Amino acid sequence: MKFASEFRDPAAARALLAAIATKADEIGATRQKPIHIMEICGGHTHSIFRYGLDKLIHEGIEFIHGPGCPVCVLPMARVDECVEIAERPGVIFTTFGDAMRVPGHKKSLIRAKSEGADIRMVYSPLDALELARRNRDREVVFFGLGFETTTPSTALSIQQAAREGLTNFSVFCNHITVPEPIKALLDDPDMTLDGFIGPGHVSMVIGIHPYDFIARDYRKPLVVAGFEPTDLLQSTLMVLVQIGEGRAAIENQYARVVPEHGNPVSLAAIADVYERRPSFEWRGLGEIDASGLRIRRKYGAFDAEEKFGIGYAASSRNVPEIEGCACGAVMTGKMKPTQCPQFGIGCTPEMPLGALMVSSEGACAAYWQYAGARAAAE
Ligand code: SF4
Repeated sequence: MKFASEFRDPAAARALLAAIATKADEIGATRQKPIHIMEICGGHTHSIFRYGLDKLIHEGIEFIHGPGCPVCVLPMARVDECVEIAERPGVIFTTFGDAMRVPGHKKSLIRAKSEGADIRMVYSPLDALELARRNRDREVVFFGLGFETTTPSTALSIQQAAREGLTNFSVFCNHITVPEPIKALLDDPDMTLDGFIGPGHVSMVIGIHPYDFIARDYRKPLVVAGFEPTDLLQSTLMVLVQIGEGRAAIENQYARVVPEHGNPVSLAAIADVYERRPSFEWRGLGEIDASGLRIRRKYGAFDAEEKFGIGYAASSRNVPEIEGCACGAVMTGKMKPTQCPQFGIGCTPEMPLGALMVSSEGACAAYWQYAGARAAAE
């Protein structure tokens, strides 16, 4: 397959693994004193395990799995609010499939659907827009969820609804941003990270400069990476080279997809439709300043928070996590999924306790699916 198979070439992967081993030895990385590299994006976590890179790579390199899975970091109170909107009479609640089984405090969306709520899975906010056109007597709500990757498509659908004068379409906005949680992780005194593999899809939208503070203020290298095995190996090597040279810079391994300054059309749509919330709650990380987006007043007619009277400030905070869940520790890289007492016992993809086991980008799902953990648990 053109543009995929060359990035999965075993000979190229072996050469990169050898170069990584040489560089890791030069730096003095060992199993006892490893170099910690956080892959921020859950898509990268899945690639690492899918291709067995964690086992193939030098023993002195440890991948720490970051919080880059938007479904995983969604706070329970917001899932509860989704259910509350979805169960109102006349509402058609639309969502990406990943979010359907994420447990809320009382129930998940799929449970609410089984109890009669009209909840439909869509592949794009444009599907929700089409439902609104065809069901003028119903309120169609789209669950806007995700990082900068999906934020523009939600913005474009709101702009389109405004152009058409649709009055029965709104978005329950839970879009979040990547740079702010990285800052929160770097400010955590318990965190010992040596470098980052930066998210490819998010960076396609925002470019590489929003990460400049990581190199400038924290002296940590970050390399924006693609998702194929040689992308990840080359990016790891680039991080190690920086560490070896005592440098900290933001570099772009995924230049075939990621423009230095991002995508201007997407950035313009984001700027037009959203503004920053003062803070937003992340499951496992708590409140992080300016890490969430809300819909601007001029598009207030398409804001489900306004339409249904569910302001973020009124969210029932302090909804406790389910007892025994170690989602927060896993999401901040302090614990491996298999160290969670619930892994494979109280929490499986069929009966998830935490979102990390549900989402296609969740670290626990990656361990379950690819790392032999399922067999061990069973
Ligand atoms: S195994 Fe389940 S409860 Fe434990 S961290 Fe993963 S998702 Fe959370």
